[in-house]
Amino acid sequence: MGVAELAALMRERRPCVVLTGAGVSTESGVPDFRSPEGLWAQFDPLEYGSLQAFRDDPEKVWRFYAPRFSMLTEAEPNDAHRALAELERRGYVRAVVTQNIDLLHERAGSADVVEVHGSIRTSSCPRCGATYPLAEVLPLVERTAVPRCARCDGVLKPDVIFFGELLPVEALERASRLAREAKLMLVVGSTLEVQPVAGLPLETLASGGALAIVNRGPTALDGVAMLKLDGSAGEILAAVARELARAS
Ligand code: ZN
Repeated sequence: MGVAELAALMRERRPCVVLTGAGVSTESGVPDFRSPEGLWAQFDPLEYGSLQAFRDDPEKVWRFYAPRFSMLTEAEPNDAHRALAELERRGYVRAVVTQNIDLLHERAGSADVVEVHGSIRTSSCPRCGATYPLAEVLPLVERTAVPRCARCDGVLKPDVIFFGELLPVEALERASRLAREAKLMLVVGSTLEVQPVAGLPLETLASGGALAIVNRGPTALDGVAMLKLDGSAGEILAAVARELARAS
């Protein structure tokens, strides 16, 4: 499976920077929105997942989004999240850059998480700018499907990046800097097809770092990776963490 090789690479080039995609969350039962079988293959993102759709008809977007929003909060971290948190505590991981919005890295104990697509941690009112934590928004979503601002009655928008919305500049700049400084970038559960995040491993390579990939199925950058492990992120990362614990 290549576990020993990946563990050796992570020891040699520690601390690595980890880039995670939907494949890490699907093992927690969170559906992959952007895969060929994912949500946005069944529903037009321009109608339900874009910034313009939200501006045009936020209530329609929320009625579509509400059950999925609740489901996100019910998912639990899996072995991949737990292994990455443990490896960070032991000095093998510097930071986790993630496209996932579900907070599962943080809930598993990862301390340094860069969320390049935002997260469900907060929702904001586009009208007056008030921000509300998930604990206040979730009951509103579950009760009414359309959470509204307590101050001005505007429809709240989750602070996740919608299609057509710019990625958060600060998070993206930090991710880019981490990628350039990394002697090893470990990509987990991403096919590396969504830009600009998919360009981060190329920044690592251009700065002389190496790339390792753990993913089910091929990715766009398999050809330039030093190591590619095909399989379950949870199984592989748990095995790598055990291997590194044994060796140290
Ligand atoms: Zn408001």
